[in-house]
Amino acid sequence: MAQIDMNNIAHSYMKQPKSESDYALNELSISWQNGGAYSLLGPSGCGKTTLLNILSGLLYPSQGKIWFDGKDVTDLKPKKRNIAQVFQFPVIYDTLTVFDNLAFPLRNRKLPESHVRKRVLEVGEMLDLKSELNNRASGLTADIKQIISLGRGLVREDVAVILLDEPLTVIDPHVKWILRRRLKQIHEQFKLTMIFVTHDQTEAMTFAEQVVLMKDGVILQQGTPEELFEKPEHTYVGFFIGDPGINLIPCKVDGQNAWVEDQPIPIPAALAGNVLKSPGKLKLGIRPAYCEMSSQDVSGSFPAQVRGIDHLGDFRLVKARLANHDFVVKVPLGEKVSSDEKVWFHFPKERIQIFSNEKSVG
Ligand code: ADP
Ligand code: MG
Repeated sequence: MAQIDMNNIAHSYMKQPKSESDYALNELSISWQNGGAYSLLGPSGCGKTTLLNILSGLLYPSQGKIWFDGKDVTDLKPKKRNIAQVFQFPVIYDTLTVFDNLAFPLRNRKLPESHVRKRVLEVGEMLDLKSELNNRASGLTADIKQIISLGRGLVREDVAVILLDEPLTVIDPHVKWILRRRLKQIHEQFKLTMIFVTHDQTEAMTFAEQVVLMKDGVILQQGTPEELFEKPEHTYVGFFIGDPGINLIPCKVDGQNAWVEDQPIPIPAALAGNVLKSPGKLKLGIRPAYCEMSSQDVSGSFPAQVRGIDHLGDFRLVKARLANHDFVVKVPLGEKVSSDEKVWFHFPKERIQIFSNEKSVG
């Protein structure tokens, strides 16, 4: 395993890119720590595969350098980088047995057969494939095939990093969570550096210690799942993480309040101070789970019109409108929900974030 640094990387698939929009990846730098569990998360087309392929050497970047443990590998071919890559669709040989599929990367490197056997049995054990080892791969289901693809990455003991590019796409929904947990166990047990690419926030948040969220070829935020949820640095992070995403309400700010049209909403003085330092188009952000609803006018609350209630299993989603702006409130089962016209809402000060030109003011 290795510490990986990608410095000032940018990539365009065009021969002569002119503007920023001609780039699949805008200039970015990122480090992947030895033994870390990362998710690279973002919507389709945001540049995740491009970034991963630059790391593995399948793609040569238009700009920038890649370092493994302080060694410049930018000009090294994928084979020389010792990377295991698992793709969206399983890459295995149907005519071979599971054993021979797992043995392939080792035999390819001409390792002694005794070592090959020992290692394949170890990995077979690790992935619960022992009973399948002598079966031909052709008859197996897609999820077993994908586990074998993963196993082909794991058999080599010299890999610098394991890259997984949306590996659960072809997996049945009900086995997805088993595989997700298996991946996490493998990481915990073997402390391998793993980068898991996905557009699914649940997959990303459950697998990773660090989530890297991308949009339009830009890394918007890197942090723990908790940091991305509690302190999104960009409105898009707040919107993309969480279900539903963060409420974003246009506002103005003075010394103590955020004003939504004529309605003052108290915010911490320090937050108001930060807004002064970052003037711009302002939005108040608050997670639906942190909004409070009451049938009485408690201090700091404001009246708003309830426009609808959705029942979603273990919680209800109350849709409300303040001035001309809609927001939603997550109300746990068991708490009273009123669709009366006289309903008050409270946004706890410490849960409010203010964004200026889509960036959190801190
Ligand atoms: P993701 O993996 O996040 O879905 P990609 O890295 O595949 O995103 O793509 C990023 C952008 O680069 C997209 O706009 C995509 O259309 C474009 N792109 C990807 N691969 C190629 C290619 N081989 N040639 C030209 N454009 C590409
Ligand atoms: Mg992709």
